[in-house]
Amino acid sequence: MTENRVNGTVSVTAPQHSVEGFAKEFLRELNFGQGVPLSRASVNDQYLALARTVREYLMARWMETLRRQRDAHAKTVAYLSAEYLLGRQLDNALIATDLTEIVEEALTSLGIDLATLREQEVEPGLGNGGLGRLAACFVDSLATMSVPCIGYGIRYEYGIFRQTFVDGWQVEQPDTWLSLGAPWEFPHPEDAVTVHFGGSTETYTDDDGVTRSRWVPAWDVLGVPYNYMVPGYQNGRVNTLRLWSARATKAFDLQIFNSGDYAEAVRAQTFAENISKVLYPEDSTPQGKELRLQQQYFFVACSIRDFLDGLPADFDLHRLPDVVMFQLNDTHPVIGVPELMRILVDEKKIAWDEAWAITQKCFAYTCHTLLPEALEVWPVELLGRLLPRHLEIIYRINDEFLAQVRQAYPNDELRLRRMSIIAEHPERSVRMAFLATIAGAKVNGVAALHSQLLRDNVLPDFSELWPDKFTNVTNGVTPRRFVRLANPALSDLITDAIGPGWVTDLERLREMEPLADDAEFRERFRAVKLANKQRLAGVLATRDGIELRTDAMLDVMVKRLHEYKRQTLKVLHIVSLYERIISGELDPASIPPRVFAFGAKAAPGYKMAKQIIGLINHVGATVNADPRVQGALTVVFPPNYNVTLAEKLIPAADLSEQISLAGKEASGTGNMKFALNGALTIGTDDGANVEIRELVGDDNFFLFGLLEPQVAEIQAVGYDPSKYYEENATLRRAIDLIASGTFSPDDKRVFEPIVSNLLTEDRFLALADFQAYLDAQERVDVAYRDVEGWTRSAILNVARSGFFSSDRSMWDYIDRIWHSQPVVAR
Ligand SMILES: *Cc1c(COP(=O)(O)O)cnc(C)c1O
Repeated sequence: MTENRVNGTVSVTAPQHSVEGFAKEFLRELNFGQGVPLSRASVNDQYLALARTVREYLMARWMETLRRQRDAHAKTVAYLSAEYLLGRQLDNALIATDLTEIVEEALTSLGIDLATLREQEVEPGLGNGGLGRLAACFVDSLATMSVPCIGYGIRYEYGIFRQTFVDGWQVEQPDTWLSLGAPWEFPHPEDAVTVHFGGSTETYTDDDGVTRSRWVPAWDVLGVPYNYMVPGYQNGRVNTLRLWSARATKAFDLQIFNSGDYAEAVRAQTFAENISKVLYPEDSTPQGKELRLQQQYFFVACSIRDFLDGLPADFDLHRLPDVVMFQLNDTHPVIGVPELMRILVDEKKIAWDEAWAITQKCFAYTCHTLLPEALEVWPVELLGRLLPRHLEIIYRINDEFLAQVRQAYPNDELRLRRMSIIAEHPERSVRMAFLATIAGAKVNGVAALHSQLLRDNVLPDFSELWPDKFTNVTNGVTPRRFVRLANPALSDLITDAIGPGWVTDLERLREMEPLADDAEFRERFRAVKLANKQRLAGVLATRDGIELRTDAMLDVMVKRLHEYKRQTLKVLHIVSLYERIISGELDPASIPPRVFAFGAKAAPGYKMAKQIIGLINHVGATVNADPRVQGALTVVFPPNYNVTLAEKLIPAADLSEQISLAGKEASGTGNMKFALNGALTIGTDDGANVEIRELVGDDNFFLFGLLEPQVAEIQAVGYDPSKYYEENATLRRAIDLIASGTFSPDDKRVFEPIVSNLLTEDRFLALADFQAYLDAQERVDVAYRDVEGWTRSAILNVARSGFFSSDRSMWDYIDRIWHSQPVVAR
């Protein structure tokens, strides 16, 4: 490494790309970084030394990227997200630097197996599911596209819980991802930011005789930034992810400690550190907890302060919209709106109207849901107690907004009440989605159907008032992690066929379309799928002691456990097949053998979701052990579905289950990962399934179920699930088998809550869609028997899914919302 004495910071010479060079640097890290010789190094020592060696290759690029972006005065995307579900870092860094082969050889020369070290890494699970994974895909894409972006979030000490099963029931263990060392993070305690809470507000007269308000807070915490590298794919760029960790401003009281009260001496420290202690394991429902609001304000206040502190001292804040867009990933960071207003008005003394004009150009809001119960609200009492000045600001924003509505719609009191940021019932509270919509320059949904329903059903009054504010950006996934890294065999096959350009230009997969008709290519494609099944079988055997047959159709449903996603529908399918086999109606030899694979975590407080996990495992145990089934059906449910497992499961899948009730799944991104890896989808007309089907074609997609308008119609007249139970014998026999206790001989009534919920409420219309689902599954069986036809469809799924690259999503955000530019080499 050489020092650049001109700017004093940047080492422009990266370490050399050679096997010997790498081996030497690795040994140096082991000896002088870990402090052990190779002969005594543990696997963890070796992993940490490897991670630090690899990250050195990214360091120079990182400094250089930041310098370039500063020099270009480029507009930055500040992505505000309470979650980043990153997945393991080592492999991603290796493909970004194109070092995999060099590292593999260098380690082999030292008698070390790269695969073993890979397994040592605990993925940072700083997110729940789709929303957090989306944020991780987006920052990957922006780095690969050379667009200036800083991702802001929270460095949770404990990420999403580790799921285990005890007798088939979910048990949560803490996720201690930091315990063996965190080689990918760079703490910067010297850049800590103070964040205030509580207290009151007061008015005063300033030196110019103007009456002003200010916040007199009661307590504070320190936000310590931890930087993570976000490497672009083989483009020499590295962006930054900055996650905040909470500390006490006064770590501990020596006087109290000396007096012997040790617990009291660290009380403030414990209290403050609780803020970034755990990720809320909720998905799709807000958790109305005071600590959660503290988390939200904490990371947003740190991030906005951090961004403003990075601007030149003489920067004119009226130009703020030229240099930043704060993108709100759902409503979790919306408290940033009154925070920026408070800084501009109270601290920078900018007039309210000017400050509001600036703020409205600096924020944009992405909505991620359609479930009314998932729209976040904060009780006025709580918000006012924790952030009194912010509540005042929200009130004023609301007053001025309602005046605008009154002008547009005179004498429409009902509309005013509907649109007010403040809800009156069941308790006075702040509707965060409304605040985001009013403040945001743009509001987007995450798939075409979702954006339409957002306008029509979720925020209809707002879209009527401001039709141009609403737009769609269909989600995407990064092809680096979800194809190139997760599926090296398919990646090699594609690169062989069309060259390597597809990794950063995914529409080029189209060039593979003609190969669907090439028998030799289809043969190679099948060999890839089989190799991926064998790889998965190996993973499941060591990870969970699960035996996976590789000569059957692999039918996969992996995603958070939620009633609207309808894992129950898939269980009912399995139970129905099983019931028909044991009753002699169905000959198990007459259907193609299938492995039904599940992966799903349930929020710890979501009782019905945990019940469903118990049901899947109990059905699985019964079916797998019954000789009458003759292996035609097997159920596997590896615990702790996370990004690392997704990378192994998805490339092996034949069939992708995307069976949410139409109108409930905003987009889904799992559906895209499967299509890109050559699985066919059985799915409803929901979320991004709609666009997947349009692109891959009806013949290569198994559509079933009610359409969204039909769902609305049924619900409008009153849905009665028992009718379907009475009228459909197959369904009735399946449900009766569950109710009979067959799957739970020790406690025959344990699944009664599921059964009674299905028969009386069935909020997500599983019974209404049951027969259509079974029919579609029969079409799947028929199609799967046609080996060449199935392979052809699978290849076409890959070739036609290039649209679902998160790079394309990012270009859409740039075009429709951010209006920022890549910073290209100079
Ligand atoms: C992609 C992904 C999700 C989102 O899956 P959906 O099917 O879209 O809900 C959730 N968890 C993990 C680990 C993922 O990789």
